[in-house]
Amino acid sequence: MKLYNLKNKNEETSFSEAVKLGLGQQQGLFFPKELPEISKNTLSELLEMDFIKRSSKLLSMIIGDEIEDFELHSQVNKAFSCTTPVLVPIQENIACLELFHGPTLAFKDFGARFMAQVIDFLNRDKNEIITILTATSGDTGAAVAHAFYKMKNVRVIILYPKGKISELQEKLFCTLGENITTISINGSFDECQNLVKQAFQDNDLKKTIGLNSANSINISRLLAQICYYFEAYSLLTEKQKKNLVISIPCGNFGNITAGLLAQSLGLPIKTFIASTNSNDTIPRFLKTGKWSPHDTISTLSNAMDISQPNNWPRVKELFKRKFWSLKKLKSGSVSDLLTKESLKDLQQQGYISEPHAAVAYHLLRKKLKNDEFGLFLGTAHPSKFKNTVEEILNINLSLPLELSKRTKLPILSYNIYPIFSKLRKFLLKK
Ligand SMILES: *Cc1c(COP(=O)(O)O)cnc(C)c1O
Repeated sequence: MKLYNLKNKNEETSFSEAVKLGLGQQQGLFFPKELPEISKNTLSELLEMDFIKRSSKLLSMIIGDEIEDFELHSQVNKAFSCTTPVLVPIQENIACLELFHGPTLAFKDFGARFMAQVIDFLNRDKNEIITILTATSGDTGAAVAHAFYKMKNVRVIILYPKGKISELQEKLFCTLGENITTISINGSFDECQNLVKQAFQDNDLKKTIGLNSANSINISRLLAQICYYFEAYSLLTEKQKKNLVISIPCGNFGNITAGLLAQSLGLPIKTFIASTNSNDTIPRFLKTGKWSPHDTISTLSNAMDISQPNNWPRVKELFKRKFWSLKKLKSGSVSDLLTKESLKDLQQQGYISEPHAAVAYHLLRKKLKNDEFGLFLGTAHPSKFKNTVEEILNINLSLPLELSKRTKLPILSYNIYPIFSKLRKFLLKK
């Protein structure tokens, strides 16, 4: 598989290089050079397979011979066997695709776990320890920590702003120990990100500790996410497959990029709805053609509080390459007030959801036509937003067993001030 840098099309890399580099020169995103198309026959064969087998076949079609099939199968198996998607019918013409049955109860497990397997594989013969350094404002850190947990040649260091992530989030990834080190920073998320940036600019440090990034724009994450769209499709009846509309709660637009890539491969999805909260840069852009991000607003669906979605250049590139018009992409934004109403609406139908999925559900209801079948993506388990959901729906939510066990463990984090020399010392010492 060859990829090119969207900011400098002359920079080309292999899949392995792109995974290791994360970003290209000038912080450009990598994008696949070839976009394979799956024939109808192959598609029917794929749809007959189980999730793991189909996913490894799909990834092998995309990635090519850089990684042998049996290796890829083993990576997919380790990454996905604990995260199988679940389709839950809500109404006759609407269902939720729950993507939150992995170890950190959010769809980010798919991407993070596959990326970790690939990085581990690429590093396997070198016998060097590599260091994954990343900053998190909550959820990504947990997915990354669990994905690399107990890997022999990888140590993971995660920075997060002290007191600015929820107690539950902190328990989820700061209680693991082993090869996972967590550091709370006396500062903001931006300060954490700055420390990470400084570390990556420090070439000596980079070499000495084998620094590697694991951020959300890594191409391996995106490819992994293509797989659950095929799984969703395989779970539908023939009638439901006919006019399929999928509504996606969007933040950085990685999830929807993967969906559009699945469509470009030949998965017959009729329409995608890009659903955002009040951070509506994209819906406004699609309506007016003007790019005018506002300041980021805090909402109930806080994983989507992003005003400059970093995967958007990939969406634009895909549409250009396929000669698709951006008009075929539907979108909308949903206020907190309507998000609450939609959560209550779902509750009345016997389904407890959470704010991110509720945003997608709202727009699906609004835009779905009579002859269409609609799916909205459940990106997180309701108990990840326990307080919000309990308050809006006036219920008590119990935590899944794994998580409730974890909340009883002690936090193992170190704590430092946001001063690079302190972090540097720490990285070299351990
Ligand atoms: C990250 C996240 C999103 C947004 O996904 P993108 O791929 O960034 O668009 C939506 N919901 C939840 C719960 C998330 O954690």
